[in-house]
Amino acid sequence: MQRPVTSKPRRKLVVGNWKMHGSLAALTVLGEINAVAKRAHRVEVAIAVPATLITAAWQAASAVKIGAQEIHAVDQGPHTGCLSASMIKDAGGGFSIIGHSECRQAQQQTDSDILEKALAARRHGLSVILCVGENLEMRERGRGEAFVMDQLEACVPADADGDWFSVAYEPIWAIGTGLSASMDDITQMHAGMRAMCRAHLGAAGDRIRLLYGGSVSSANASQVLSIAHVDGVLVSGASLSAETFLPIIAAA
Ligand code: PEP
Repeated sequence: MQRPVTSKPRRKLVVGNWKMHGSLAALTVLGEINAVAKRAHRVEVAIAVPATLITAAWQAASAVKIGAQEIHAVDQGPHTGCLSASMIKDAGGGFSIIGHSECRQAQQQTDSDILEKALAARRHGLSVILCVGENLEMRERGRGEAFVMDQLEACVPADADGDWFSVAYEPIWAIGTGLSASMDDITQMHAGMRAMCRAHLGAAGDRIRLLYGGSVSSANASQVLSIAHVDGVLVSGASLSAETFLPIIAAA
C-alpha cells in the first residue's frame, strides 16, 4: 500500500564527505560547521567522516548529522577491514553513503551489492545516501541518463522513503576535477531521476531528496541548488575546511 501524499517541502541537505582525510585535531573544523548548522534551520547538514572519527564527531557536533562513507551488506562475519551498518550505528553514526563511485570501482561492487547495503542500513536504522553517476565514456556515448536510470532501478529499495533515503547524482568525471556538470545536464538528470522515483515509489518518490555532487564549491553552489529537483549537494574537497564549506551551507 502506498503512503499518503505529503505536501511538506523537501528540506535542503548539504553533505560533506571527508573521504580519507581528518584526525581528532581536525574536529575543530567540525566545531565551526556545527555552530553554523545550529542556526541554519532550513538546511540539514551532515558529514561522512572516516569511521575512526564517528564517535568523537558525534559527541562534538550536536547539530550536524554524522555518518559513514561505506558499510558492508552483512551484519557480521569474516570480512577483514569492513564495517557493518550495526557497527556504524553503535559508534553513533546516523547514516552512510553507499555506492560511491570510488568504492564501486575499488571493490568491484555491483548494483545488487549496493541494494543489499541499503537494506542492511534500513535494518539497523541508518539513513542512506545512494550515489549514482555515469563515467566519461558513458556520457560521450550518449548513454549517461540511461545508465543512471538503470542504477536507480537496481539500487533503490521498494520501501525507500524520504525519511531515510536520499540519492546523489555524481557524474564520475566531475568528482574532484573542478569540472562540474552543466546546469542543463543537472536539470535533465534530476528531472529524470524524479520521474523514475515517482514511477517506482509513488508518492514516496516525491519525498526522496535528490542531491548533486561533483566539484561543488562556493562559486557554483547557489546556482546548482536553485535547479528544480536539486534538494541538496554532496561535497568532498570543499567540505574539508570551514572556509570553503560554510558558504555552501549558506547557499542552501
Ligand atoms: C565526491 O567524491 O563525492 C565529490 C563530490 O567530490 P568533490 O566534491 O571533491 O568533487
